[in-house]
Amino acid sequence: MMNLSNHEYFNVNDGRQISVGTFYCIGRNYSAHAREMGASVPDKPLVFLKPRTAYIPFENATLTCPSFSNEMHHEVEIAIVIGDDIPLGVQNGFEKYIAGYGIALDLTLRDIQSIAKQKGEPWAISKGFAGSAPVSTIFPMESYPHCTFSLNINGELRQKGDTTMMERSFEELIAYCHSIFHLKAGDCILTGTPEGVGPLYSGDVITAEIQDVLTTQCTIA
Ligand code: MG
Repeated sequence: MMNLSNHEYFNVNDGRQISVGTFYCIGRNYSAHAREMGASVPDKPLVFLKPRTAYIPFENATLTCPSFSNEMHHEVEIAIVIGDDIPLGVQNGFEKYIAGYGIALDLTLRDIQSIAKQKGEPWAISKGFAGSAPVSTIFPMESYPHCTFSLNINGELRQKGDTTMMERSFEELIAYCHSIFHLKAGDCILTGTPEGVGPLYSGDVITAEIQDVLTTQCTIA
């Protein structure tokens, strides 16, 4: 029997707990967000990683901007959690390996990331710092979700997305990540953010929602 702290497993709506693995995060999967960042949709998925220590349970979390940054941005995203190791060589039909989906934040230190972009350096610090990936309870799925999701700050709508706006489908993203990294149980795909990203301030109350599925809330320290 595993003995894990609640920062080490995803909670599934059916009571299961899944030990957290690696986060594979997709950039620029919603064209309006790519444009607001002065970028375009890339020819191949843009992938970056967060370590397992990025995870924090979303519900009632207190999120802290690290001392080495002055600009932590929200990016609300649909998270897909892998439930079973995917055999090598599998190229499609990934639904049966998925534990479920939820809502997450890809917290980003925009000041640090801007410098990294200018210098051509990795995004590991700006995107992968401890606590940079709050994830909600995971809901099992029978097929890939079609959903609308949103993020409110202090009751004001800031981001709204719909999975029909994704440039690449969940299946395509999982296939691409598996072909390169080999996905295992507990790995989590963050599937990109819609437009409307922006800074978070001390005292902000963040509410994230997948319409008709779940609502969760956290605050900024
Ligand atoms: Mg993102």
